[in-house]
Amino acid sequence: MEETLFAEILLPLHIPGCLTYRVPVVLAGQMGVGKRVVVPLGKKKKYTGIVKRLHTIPPQVPTIKYVEAIVDEKPLVTEKELQLWEWIAEYYLCFQGDVMQAALPSVLKLQSETRITFHPGFDGESIDLSEKELKVMDALLSNEDMTLSDIASLVDQQKVWPLVKGLVDKGVIITNEEITKKFKPKLINTYRLANDYHTEESLHALFDKLAGKAYKQLEAVMTFVRLAGESIAIHRIEQSVLLKESKVKTTVLNALVKKGVFIKEIIEASRFESVLPKKPVSSITLNDCQVNALKAIDSAFLEKKPVLLHGVTGSGKTEIYIRLIQQQIDRRQQTLYLLPEIALTSQIINRLQYYFGDKVMVYHSGFNEMERAEVWQRAAAFTGADNDPFVLLGARSALFLPLRNPGLVIVDEEHDTSFKQNEAPPRYNARDVAIVIAKMFNIPVILGSATPAVESYYNAETGKYALIEINKRFSGVPMPEIMVADLRKERKNKTMQEHFSSLLVKKMKEALNDDEQIILFQNRRGFSLRLFCTQCGWTPECPHCDVSLTYHEYIRKIKCHYCGYSQSVPTRCEVCNSAEVKMAGFGTERIENELPLIFPDAKVNRMDLETTRKKHAYAKIFEAFETRETDILVGTQMVSKGLDFDNVGVVGIMNADNMINFPDFRSFERSFMQITQVSGRAGRKNKRGRVVIQSSNPDHDVIRFAINNDYQAMYKSQLMERKQYRYPPFFRIVLITLKGRDRSNVNKAAEYLAALLKNRLPGLVLGPEYPLVPRIKNQFLKQIMVKLPRDKDSGKKKSFILKASEYTNKQIDYKQVRIILNVDPY
Ligand code: ADP
Ligand code: ZN
Ligand code: ZN
Repeated sequence: MEETLFAEILLPLHIPGCLTYRVPVVLAGQMGVGKRVVVPLGKKKKYTGIVKRLHTIPPQVPTIKYVEAIVDEKPLVTEKELQLWEWIAEYYLCFQGDVMQAALPSVLKLQSETRITFHPGFDGESIDLSEKELKVMDALLSNEDMTLSDIASLVDQQKVWPLVKGLVDKGVIITNEEITKKFKPKLINTYRLANDYHTEESLHALFDKLAGKAYKQLEAVMTFVRLAGESIAIHRIEQSVLLKESKVKTTVLNALVKKGVFIKEIIEASRFESVLPKKPVSSITLNDCQVNALKAIDSAFLEKKPVLLHGVTGSGKTEIYIRLIQQQIDRRQQTLYLLPEIALTSQIINRLQYYFGDKVMVYHSGFNEMERAEVWQRAAAFTGADNDPFVLLGARSALFLPLRNPGLVIVDEEHDTSFKQNEAPPRYNARDVAIVIAKMFNIPVILGSATPAVESYYNAETGKYALIEINKRFSGVPMPEIMVADLRKERKNKTMQEHFSSLLVKKMKEALNDDEQIILFQNRRGFSLRLFCTQCGWTPECPHCDVSLTYHEYIRKIKCHYCGYSQSVPTRCEVCNSAEVKMAGFGTERIENELPLIFPDAKVNRMDLETTRKKHAYAKIFEAFETRETDILVGTQMVSKGLDFDNVGVVGIMNADNMINFPDFRSFERSFMQITQVSGRAGRKNKRGRVVIQSSNPDHDVIRFAINNDYQAMYKSQLMERKQYRYPPFFRIVLITLKGRDRSNVNKAAEYLAALLKNRLPGLVLGPEYPLVPRIKNQFLKQIMVKLPRDKDSGKKKSFILKASEYTNKQIDYKQVRIILNVDPY
């Protein structure tokens, strides 16, 4: 008698741990950790889960359901990946199901909606089918395709999977149709020249024949011959190319197919076009700084230490990464290359493809589900063959891609806040997880930045990381000259034009005269255009969130940045009925509108969330600037990220004060980074760039440090503050947000939880307090901040926080309150 096998199954749901299922004897032999299985949940639902563990210990529950089918022949997820998911769940206080949900593209997570349909090769000859199988077949004949739940109701039995599997084995149907459908490779029409016309004489005869009466057809054939070049016998040309080049219509091509001149073939095209490298990496000659940095990196790798590469903007860090990637490819190993946002990727993709062709594979949120799944599967199939993905390049979620033979992890712009996922669990920081991945695989990791995060620099200073610094730009051009425009003085002297100081205007004029381009930076966090009543101070606010509405010129409405609510612009104050309602503050759009008044001839473009929402919009704005169609680019953070332009004479920072004064313990550090990063865009190939910072507080430390390009001074002053006020890197923060529709309920739950925490973690708990925006989408918010010393007990303390939150949620009165835990909020 064989023992019953049980499986712990991880489901892509926000539930704790795994669920236990019984494995039917017939499936026992094929079960394996990391494979996907189909399991029932509740009365009707079915999910694809992943086998986490197999054992023979019967669970202590009255009823236990069966695993219904196995989806994979080979495990989809490796044990290492499962380990990583576990680590993420534990560290970031979320569930492994949350991690699975984030890690796998959705087409790999089938649910009861999975479809079946006839096997394309099934000829209708029924071979020995059972009554139930025939019933399914009949239903399929009239339905084309059905979901598993449809079938379940049809044959009146819960366990449809064995039935379905039987039909699959007999070649009658195909399942996982969702997958096949979603994976359906892109099909393209192509044309080949029929065998009869492969000789010169036959071709000329054809030309003569067509020349008389079918001029368009002649055009198409001649275009084909021109495009095919030497190889007319074997060449296939895509329909779209042929149409475009010959300027004929599809009907013309069809006519040629009818005549037997062309043979039309539909072939599968890979979505990943083949890109050939343009130059070998060996063609790069590194300068002395780079050579020394590379040497230092190699020896740090030998020591198994993470490397922090601190190099000023334009110091040539990317070229160093390219060298390191080549070393990996020579060893047939992969590089995981993480970078902040899509905004940054297009230039980097081009640069990497220039050297590595289609060995570079890209993964980010701009892809649709189908593309994501395809990338995922291609990465999983890595064997080390020549066109395999050796460089996995992507934003934070790329770290969930299957790594089959990794040799190196690169985190570019490691200080960037977008590495942290704040919105949904798992609330992970990709930079920090990258370090864990490197440790798990025992491979080197390199973090690069011109302005490292204080936490990272601290790790380097204390010897946890190896620190490698490059202080010179590759071009030898000095760092830009940074000037401050004193807004208080200029306002007093009435030298301001709209939001432009006379200093900034002067520098911009000089630049435009020299045919140089200009970038103007206005940070998104600053207050943008807001209406207010000059009589009583009233400001229109969002009815669903506690924030003021901001004015948007292009829709001529005021709008909420949190929930999207919008309304028309009020002409009178709702409180005192005064007509004196004016604009306060300014955003990117306002600056864009002011420019023509001061620089009537300049061509202006704007890059922010609004203007880049559409697909390819970003690339278009970017290209217009790169090709110098645009003179002035106005933008938010987006313009400060890793862009490498070679004709920017002046960078203007419109308002440094609202960055510096933002109420957050990181605001000084962030302002310094912002100023430094955006300044880094200034400078031409052989001319020093100029930066004008506009501020009402020109003597502020942050501005002084930025002018002197003194990262060390910023770091030291911040470190002192962090220590004094118990912030990272000395303490670890867990931010708890309570959220609900009933304000007093949220407040009470927050008090309750805070009391539990204060009792166990005396002196470490702050709050509850209202956050900056205390109501969003009609949900009231309250926050508690816990500061944990970084000692061995911090793990235990963190899990206490989780338990206390769950306990609070279990109280009848607080069941409706959502409690969100954010470890290392950023
Ligand atoms: P970073 O990533 O540190 O900001 P980049 O790698 O983008 O710097 O280098 C800045 C500029 O210098 C780029 O235009 C790059 O092409 C050029 N550059 C850097 N290193 C080399 C090199 N070894 N040979 C030729 N050009 C280089
Ligand atoms: Zn008023
Ligand atoms: Zn709102």
